[in-house]
Amino acid sequence: MKPAHFQSMKYPMPEKKITNFQTIVIQFENAAERLKLEPYLRKILRIPFREVSVQLPVVMDDGRIEVFTGYRVQHNGARGPYKGGLRYHPDVDLDEVRGLAILMTWKTALMNLPFGGGKGGIQCDPHKMSPRELEQLTRKFTARIGLVLGPYRDILAPDLNTDEQVMAWIFDEYSSRHGYTPSIVTGKPVSLGGSIGRKEATGRGIVYIIQEVLKDLEIDIKTTTAVIQGFGNVGSHTAQFLYEEGVKILAVSGREGGIYNPSGLNIPDLIRHVQNRRSVATYPYGDPITNKELLKLECDLLIPAAVGGVITKEDNVLDLKARIVVEAANCPTTPIADKILQEREIPVIPDILANAGGVVVSYFEWVQNLQQFRWDLDHINRELQAHLIKAYREVRSLAERERVTLRTAAHMIAIGRVAEAERIRGH
Ligand code: GLU
Repeated sequence: MKPAHFQSMKYPMPEKKITNFQTIVIQFENAAERLKLEPYLRKILRIPFREVSVQLPVVMDDGRIEVFTGYRVQHNGARGPYKGGLRYHPDVDLDEVRGLAILMTWKTALMNLPFGGGKGGIQCDPHKMSPRELEQLTRKFTARIGLVLGPYRDILAPDLNTDEQVMAWIFDEYSSRHGYTPSIVTGKPVSLGGSIGRKEATGRGIVYIIQEVLKDLEIDIKTTTAVIQGFGNVGSHTAQFLYEEGVKILAVSGREGGIYNPSGLNIPDLIRHVQNRRSVATYPYGDPITNKELLKLECDLLIPAAVGGVITKEDNVLDLKARIVVEAANCPTTPIADKILQEREIPVIPDILANAGGVVVSYFEWVQNLQQFRWDLDHINRELQAHLIKAYREVRSLAERERVTLRTAAHMIAIGRVAEAERIRGH
């Protein structure tokens, strides 16, 4: 992988205050510029098609009524129904959801799936809520945005702090009004029509991409070390699959901090530890480490797998000692940090490529639901690997040809596909 040429970017404000949305717009502008995209398409693709914001009153367990706010943003549907996850987090706001909806359009287009991009979010702290409160919140949200959902209109999926159970409530609530509709949501429990392999798909996909990247760089995966920020669904599965490949996992972290062991962590044991409702930080076989320190550890693969905006100029990019950054989270790198990584010749495997395994298997789940047919795990994993490797090769060859970063190349391919669909469909 050759280091890409320096590219000019615009910085609208001090990096410290930059939001995920602004990062995503800068990435878009950068690729649109290279593609010489027509001004009307830039306008259409820069902002979402539709944004819905709803009030969600929930009777809490102590009898109080708390009113939450939920969002669903549908960015672009030129290539198919809107597709994307639903996240529960205290920092969720319209701006963030908007940015992540845009990112989903590029992700589905890069994977060449017949979907557009959307994203949902509810501003709440799910770790402080009971299962009953979360169920009420999810059902209310589904009912209130129901009008803009549909198996051929907008399909939800898990994202930060939402899981199979949340998807099951959405499926149930939607089906109670519209009749049995498993294809309204992906990432469901397998017993309700979910796809085998969906839960671990993002992590599995990240490892398929890493294997390909390491082959290109002529690095033996068994000699590599990794550091992973985040130990939710994506972080823990990525750790597990890397561990199975013989990668030494030096450190991982959760919300309350992390654990570092230079001789390598026993990931299956750590997974058992957190399954017993204990935090990563309390794992006894290693030294405690903060989320901030963890990002600066010397390693081959640095894998942010939690929230956005964690690799920044102010905090860490000049001190990163990783050989490759793999974006398992959405939008973990700010634009200036991205440029500095480029100058430091540290390749970044961009989010829309690295973490696309989730939405690829969501597509398989949707197809299986529509056809009322089941694929087996081998078939799913083979197809997943084929989709990801094809996309990676396309990105890599465009990056080499155009002498741009993998991120810019990935965006150029994705934006080019969406623009093409917009042009042909007409207005
Ligand atoms: N939330 C995941 C993502 O950001 C999955 C989306 C989906 O499966 O629709 O890619």
